[in-house]
Amino acid sequence: MNRLLPLLLAGAVAVPAIAQQPAPPPSPVDPAVIALRDAALKDDYAWDITEGLTTEVGQRLAGTDAEARARTWAVSKLKALGFSNVHVEEFNLPVWTRGAESARVLAPYPQSLAVTALGNSASTGPAGITGDLVMFDSVDALRRAPDSTVRGKIVFVDHHMAPTQDGSSYGPGGTPRRAGPTVASMKGAIGIIVRSAGTDHHRNPHAGVQSFGEGASPIPAGAISIPDAEQLARIFKRGQPVRLHLQLVSSTRQGTSGNVMAEVPGRNAALPPVLVGGHLDSWDLGTGAIDDASGVAIAAAAAKRIMDAGQPERTIRVVWFGSEETGLWGGLDYRAKHGKDPHYAIIESDFGADRIWRVTSKLGDDRKAEAQMLQAALAPLGIVAGATDEADGSDIGPMIADGVLAVGLSQDGTRYFDYHHTPDDTLDKIDPEQLRQNVAAWTATLGVLTGPVHPRATKARKPR
Ligand code: ZN
Ligand code: ZN
Repeated sequence: MNRLLPLLLAGAVAVPAIAQQPAPPPSPVDPAVIALRDAALKDDYAWDITEGLTTEVGQRLAGTDAEARARTWAVSKLKALGFSNVHVEEFNLPVWTRGAESARVLAPYPQSLAVTALGNSASTGPAGITGDLVMFDSVDALRRAPDSTVRGKIVFVDHHMAPTQDGSSYGPGGTPRRAGPTVASMKGAIGIIVRSAGTDHHRNPHAGVQSFGEGASPIPAGAISIPDAEQLARIFKRGQPVRLHLQLVSSTRQGTSGNVMAEVPGRNAALPPVLVGGHLDSWDLGTGAIDDASGVAIAAAAAKRIMDAGQPERTIRVVWFGSEETGLWGGLDYRAKHGKDPHYAIIESDFGADRIWRVTSKLGDDRKAEAQMLQAALAPLGIVAGATDEADGSDIGPMIADGVLAVGLSQDGTRYFDYHHTPDDTLDKIDPEQLRQNVAAWTATLGVLTGPVHPRATKARKPR
């Protein structure tokens, strides 16, 4: 026992006064928003959606039957959660699907490489193609090369990508995948393989879309895993001609996709809605947990938490975009149908579920105070204030470019490209605690943007 305690209890010892701290300035954030934010740190809705979608549907490649099953799953889930106006807006698109794929070095050291076709790759047919391999360390080096060094050959681009918190390395890191096939085709190559746009050292190639530019006839285009790219580079260093057999079977047909939409109706239907979303489709190699089951889950969970608390001033529109991966089809369809309607703000989650570390916004000069309130509401979650004149998103990107006002909640992307578009994009990569921090950030953001949440009138009063 403390030696002084009996004396203190008896009042025999004077307790020194605690030095007066200046009172902190009053928070500009509505206490109701603070309460919603803090309660969301115990959220289970987002995990439930992510786990359900990845388990009960699994991979859901754009335009396929699997993506259609995901829409059916989404409609029943959103209805079960109590959302209003749950419906699908369909659109058509070309549907690319992969078949058998393999890559084998024939000379000088025969061995297989881990390969996957890039979206919209031409098919080699089941027999595959064989050619001499020519290596470049970047697309720029490929561009500079005389056509004669590439014509009739298979190109290999060995461009490295480093991990970054903000994902900024994906721009340049993804260039070989996005632009390499077109450049190689224009120079007369018969095929191309690129080092995967990724940051891991697993023997998993990273899929992803590419589109052949005008004038470029489609050629077989694939990505090899990073250890295989390093292996191939070492083989090249030996200085002998390298021959490769490449089999990338694929086919393309017309098909249907759709955006799944749901709402939390606001008290004032005349006010423009706040759009929150993610994309429902995924690449076909994993189960699309970080890309982007967690994104649709975070957006819907935050909207659900507001709905549970009552009715917001503004309508919240949840959009689970279809077919993002193969060309932003869902985002472009939404923009064509609704892009001219006023939106109060648009937000998308499409960068995994690791903790949000930064908030950016583009709400216009007359809403600076709101942007600052957003920063204040998020700071206790360890989120730093970023620029107030920029925001981004995948499906919502074209609408942001059109001038629609937006908020950006940036997840930590340090490990995102270890798994992105690989067989490793599975549920176990989601950390439930970091997922909850995402939901808390999104809930607080909706709390600030949608206006005061009023408890719904109950139908019957309890007798006193
Ligand atoms: Zn995505
Ligand atoms: Zn993706």
